[in-house]
Amino acid sequence: MSIAGAVNRAERIAALNFDYAEQPKARVERCNLCGETVFVGLTHRDRYGYPASASGCTRCGLVFLDPVMTAAAYGDFYAGTYRPLVSAFHGRLIDARSIQQEQKEYAVERGDLLAPYVEGRGYRTLLDIGGSTGVVADAFARRFGLRATLVDPAPLETAQARALGLETIEGLVEQVDLGNRQFDVVVLCQTVDHLLDVTGTLRRLRDLITPGGVFFIDIVDFRAAYLRNGSVEAAIKIDHPYYLTEATMTAYLERTGFTVARADYAADHLHVSYAAQPSAPRPDALPPAATTEALWREIRSVQNAPGPRS
Ligand SMILES: [Zn+2]
Repeated sequence: MSIAGAVNRAERIAALNFDYAEQPKARVERCNLCGETVFVGLTHRDRYGYPASASGCTRCGLVFLDPVMTAAAYGDFYAGTYRPLVSAFHGRLIDARSIQQEQKEYAVERGDLLAPYVEGRGYRTLLDIGGSTGVVADAFARRFGLRATLVDPAPLETAQARALGLETIEGLVEQVDLGNRQFDVVVLCQTVDHLLDVTGTLRRLRDLITPGGVFFIDIVDFRAAYLRNGSVEAAIKIDHPYYLTEATMTAYLERTGFTVARADYAADHLHVSYAAQPSAPRPDALPPAATTEALWREIRSVQNAPGPRS
């Protein structure tokens, strides 16, 4: 980006008057993946210029915002600041309406990944967690002949999903009451990085999947995000409490009771998607120590290299 472009971006973000430093936050006591308490501080500013710190777990390599905004602060952030902030960052309007074309393309690509694990299995129900306006749930429901239920905390977005004929439940998956319902296909699309408790959510989802069902999840690959930008700070953003890698996502799935059936590098070279099936939890699963050591070496190398800074 040119200097003028960076100045314009900074001015657009400043014009939102969002005071990150003043938001209520909590320090992270234990690693959400492995329970470790020894962390390394990695960065002190995010891609928007906010004073957001990210730490990494020395044992498993999970990276996360620390301190992190409280659930109530994130509630306010998503209600008023999130879409305008992303729009200011990119310099174009990004809202529930404008993302729909992108979501349609996403649904086709990710549907191709899921098809071998869904077709011909007699599945009837789909649960989409954080499903926004329902474009993806609707596409999957039509393609695979499923009845779709969508859970999302944003009322403006669930209203659009309802207009598509989907069953919608307003709220966060940790809080909504689904009784003893189970679903054949459960999807968590472009959402896991936004959660406050990944382990708790994955455990909850494990209970919501039928024994022979399938789970879809995708991550923004943290390594891809910092390598493409040549900057670790450019990969950190206050909207993502978590920064997952293939190694940490796989460990999360194994620990909470899923076996990866297929992983897929998305065409954007940024997301990694997984089709996973319920299995016995392996509560001690961890990324190999050598993988975690390589992650710290790579982060230091990116931080110390002369090169572009966005
Ligand atoms: Zn850890």
